[in-house]
Amino acid sequence: MQLVVEGIRIDVRSLGGIATTIAFPEWSLCIDLGVVTQAALRCDTVAFTHAHADHVSGLNQFLGVRRLYGMRPPRLITSAAIAGPMQRLVDAMGELQGRPFESVVEGVEPDGEIEVGRGLRLRPFPVVHQEHAVGWSLVRRVQKLRPAYVGLPGPEIARLKADDSVELFDPIDDPLIAVTGDTQAEGLDLSHPWVRRARVLMIETTFLDDERRDSNAAKVGKHVHLDDLPAILAGVEARAVVLYHVSQVYRPAEVESAIRGRIPEAWRNRVHVVVPGDDERL
Ligand SMILES: [Zn+2]
Repeated sequence: MQLVVEGIRIDVRSLGGIATTIAFPEWSLCIDLGVVTQAALRCDTVAFTHAHADHVSGLNQFLGVRRLYGMRPPRLITSAAIAGPMQRLVDAMGELQGRPFESVVEGVEPDGEIEVGRGLRLRPFPVVHQEHAVGWSLVRRVQKLRPAYVGLPGPEIARLKADDSVELFDPIDDPLIAVTGDTQAEGLDLSHPWVRRARVLMIETTFLDDERRDSNAAKVGKHVHLDDLPAILAGVEARAVVLYHVSQVYRPAEVESAIRGRIPEAWRNRVHVVVPGDDERL
């Protein structure tokens, strides 16, 4: 499914428990790789929220097909806590192929960040799911003219630019998008500035119905239930929200209407839903 949300192109395939792959073609960046899509294959960098099967199962095919096509070894990014086992997974897959894969898994510490090209940085944020699961936020570092110099004529700015002793710009982080990965709502803290202020927020929303709310299915599996959304959205400043990772217990035809009716009024026109195709079910 392809979406353009607040100017950001998102190529996403997501069905909770089966496969989730979120590609951002303009940035050659993919988050999670439950299945290889055409858009994901072209991404030079993949960041994983966690290593549950529906988020990593495409990795073997991804590495193999990219190598078959002579594409560069992709960058693979995880939280620092799982970089070791993920590297061993890559190494084992290479060994079984009879030729090692060259990718080196890059782990990011909880307060760290990693540059992913085009002035973009990925920063992990804590979520409540499997131990070591993280969400990822993507920020763009831009250089902003210091207030003291705003309004100066062009030639004067050019003269100051050439003067090494003058600091004309301040680096500013523009939070573009934040992706929760899997998480439960309880205890989820989206107050980090680059998460709270992300232009687009992608939230997993696995469960939609009363029955699974009453049976605590979301809590048991540590996922978000639709009824959790008002509390989550109350704290964020996103211009738009994308809901994904819907469980396959729902028929695709009922997903959109089930969600539409229960979204807080203020958000109704700013919520996009990733509706899985019938052929994605297993
Ligand atoms: Zn999971």
